[in-house]
Amino acid sequence: MVGSGPAGLTFARVLHRHGHPVTLLERDPSPDARPPGGTLDLHEGLGQRALDKAGLLAGFHALARPEGQALRILDPDGTVLRDWRPHPDDQAHPEIDRGQLRDLLLGPLGVRWGRGVTGVVPGTRDGVLVRFADGREETFDLVVGADGAWSRVRPAVSPVTPHYTGVTFVETSLDDIDTRHPDLARLIGDGSVGVYGVNRGLVAQRNSGGHVKVYAQFRAPLDRHPDPAGVEAVRSGLLALFAGWAEPVLGLLRHGTAFVHRPSTSCPCATPGRTSPG
Ligand SMILES: Cc1cc2nc3c(=O)[nH]c(=O)nc-3n(C[C@H](O)[C@H](O)[C@H](O)COP(=O)(O)OP(=O)(O)OC[C@H]3O[C@@H](n4cnc5c(N)ncnc54)[C@H](O)[C@@H]3O)c2cc1C
Repeated sequence: MVGSGPAGLTFARVLHRHGHPVTLLERDPSPDARPPGGTLDLHEGLGQRALDKAGLLAGFHALARPEGQALRILDPDGTVLRDWRPHPDDQAHPEIDRGQLRDLLLGPLGVRWGRGVTGVVPGTRDGVLVRFADGREETFDLVVGADGAWSRVRPAVSPVTPHYTGVTFVETSLDDIDTRHPDLARLIGDGSVGVYGVNRGLVAQRNSGGHVKVYAQFRAPLDRHPDPAGVEAVRSGLLALFAGWAEPVLGLLRHGTAFVHRPSTSCPCATPGRTSPG
């Protein structure tokens, strides 16, 4: 298995549960090498079904936040268009922190950390050849590519490459929101708030422990990369982009601690009736 994101770990746990040995190859040097990212909602019949197959559904429900399904939608002027709160028993798509999900999935699995894969060659005499960034090579009887959007495994079976959608996210975070920013805590509620204007949006999602991730979303050329400009320059740029929006909403940007640029990419869907070359 190449990649220990949610997909690779879940599949590895399903195989492990059925007694199949799995080797997990992950580029990150350790589980905590980088922040695990924002909250994930897992839907009944989809993500929850996969966790059930891995024998981890009860573990998921013990950690998940059903109240995190709450959703508020506002106009840029601050008018509340929707304020939906789930019933306490609603398990349709509870939220879980990615780090908690990763730790749940890791369980007994052994991961070979710091093993970035550069490519695979199927059909060699000894099986599938895996090439590593450090120059080493190793063969396996089967390789599953779970290494995300920019997969180094996919080129062995498909010519498809991701393309930029034209939409960029800039992510920022707020900590200890209930104590430090009670006004913003009320704006967000127990789950998420989305504020949508023309060609731009601001979404804030509550994670556990009073941590909030904020995503400013807008159309921009791919080369518009605000990170090197520094925190205050990015903040000013975003405040200019969202100028005129309600002041409580702009508070999400005013109090963000650091900004990370995340251009949104997607892979083309399979053409109907056409199978991939692999
Ligand atoms: C803002 C945002 C919000 C989202 N919210 C939700 C949500 O609420 N619910 C939901 O279901 N989905 C959500 N998604 C989508 C979800 O994040 C992805 O579907 C999911 O992360 C994909 O998992 P993955 O394991 O396929 O890939 P990834 O999460 O990308 O993991 C890939 C793994 O492979 C490793 N890797 C990469 N390249 C190599 C290499 N060459 N060699 C070795 N290892 C490598 C990476 O380090 C990583 O650990 C959201 C996405 C975004 C951007």
